[in-house]
Amino acid sequence: MPRTDLDFDQFRKQLMEEREKALQSEHNADEIFDTSEEFETGELTTHDDHQADIATDLTNREQAVVLRDNIRHIIDQIDHALEKIDNGTYGICDDCGENIALERLEFEPYAAYCIKDQAKIEGTG
Ligand SMILES: [Zn+2]
Repeated sequence: MPRTDLDFDQFRKQLMEEREKALQSEHNADEIFDTSEEFETGELTTHDDHQADIATDLTNREQAVVLRDNIRHIIDQIDHALEKIDNGTYGICDDCGENIALERLEFEPYAAYCIKDQAKIEGTG
């Protein structure tokens, strides 16, 4: 049974905003990635005094990859949460079927699990 204590429209709006932000961040990460690629194929290899720059650049690139992975993961979760709003299971734990605490949804509107099961999944509980 869909929860009656949640304002689904409000959460949907919030999720769409989060999704927009995530897409923007992904775009930014792509730019770091693309810039790094150009940088790497440039003339840098012939200049020893630029080694430090290359190292920094590679680190940025690695960070961009990790960032992109994280963002895609969040977008997946947001899409899943939007589906849950559509099929009336929003705010209900995917695992145990218990209600997810409102404070948790306010903090993380794309949460699909109650705090207990989230901890289990992440191996921290
Ligand atoms: Zn649960």
